[in-house]
Amino acid sequence: MRRKKGSGRKIELTKMKLFLLCLVVFIMFVGIGRSIGEKLTSKATNAEEKLAENDLEKKEKEKETKNNSGKTEEVREDKAVKKEKHNEEKQETKKDTEVAEKDVEAKEVKEEKPIDQEKNSSNDNKKVAYLTFDDGPSVVVTPQVLDILDNCNVKATFFVIGSLAEQNSDLIKREYNSGHAVGNHTYSHNYKYIYSSVNNLLSDIDKCENVLKGILGNDFHSAAFRFPGGSFGQKKQPFKDVLKNKGIGYVDWNALNGDAEGHNIPKDRLVQRLVQTTQGKNKVVILMHDAGAKKTTAQALPEIINYFKKQGYEFKTIDQEAINGF
Ligand SMILES: [Zn+2]
Repeated sequence: MRRKKGSGRKIELTKMKLFLLCLVVFIMFVGIGRSIGEKLTSKATNAEEKLAENDLEKKEKEKETKNNSGKTEEVREDKAVKKEKHNEEKQETKKDTEVAEKDVEAKEVKEEKPIDQEKNSSNDNKKVAYLTFDDGPSVVVTPQVLDILDNCNVKATFFVIGSLAEQNSDLIKREYNSGHAVGNHTYSHNYKYIYSSVNNLLSDIDKCENVLKGILGNDFHSAAFRFPGGSFGQKKQPFKDVLKNKGIGYVDWNALNGDAEGHNIPKDRLVQRLVQTTQGKNKVVILMHDAGAKKTTAQALPEIINYFKKQGYEFKTIDQEAINGF
């Protein structure tokens, strides 16, 4: 029985130990489990955080890219707008140049039109040359022309554009004080404007006349008027009638050096053209230009003056006789 009792206790003790062991093991497991759980959770959180971070980064990157692309687009648009503007400006400049060139071309064509035949050459054998310079004054060519005329002691007539006279009043004074005649060639020289109505032409002539009076004094009267492009053709008839009624004398030309027939025409060709167009004429009104682009006109002038001198011509400025004669 004792044995039984002793072994029973032992068994109980062993059970107890086993229970305790199990308990310890259980607690340990729970602990380990917890820590693993925590670790796993933290890992998961970390992973999530990372994911979230990545996501954020991604989103930020996307934003940046969007912004950048937006900026790029803006820049592109800006560039495109600028380009368009530039192109528009270019086109406008081109248009302006084209218009200006067409204007010049139109002028050249008009000024190239047939020269009126001399009316009274058969009655008068006296040879007279009227040198005329249109479309000035210009800063470079006009002083060169004036120097040459001074050196050769020859007087000429300048049909000046009012707007250019305003800008170069000293040259107008020099022309006038050197004994040359100053004529009216409208204020604007704008064909579209002056030939769109008789009133426009008259007001443009008046405007030019007032500029010249402002420079040369109120007593000044221009020697004559010259139609831009000449008075040739039926279209100009109403304008001519009005000028006649108003007592405004105008004069065309019956010879030319051809300096309006192109750009920078070599001086030899200008002399040739002059010789050709003055053949057989005792009274010649010669169309030339002292506009800024007509540099070869000044170059050809000494030779032209020499030619007339050799042919026995006397040089005169445009006067009533010249107006009546042409
Ligand atoms: Zn002109």
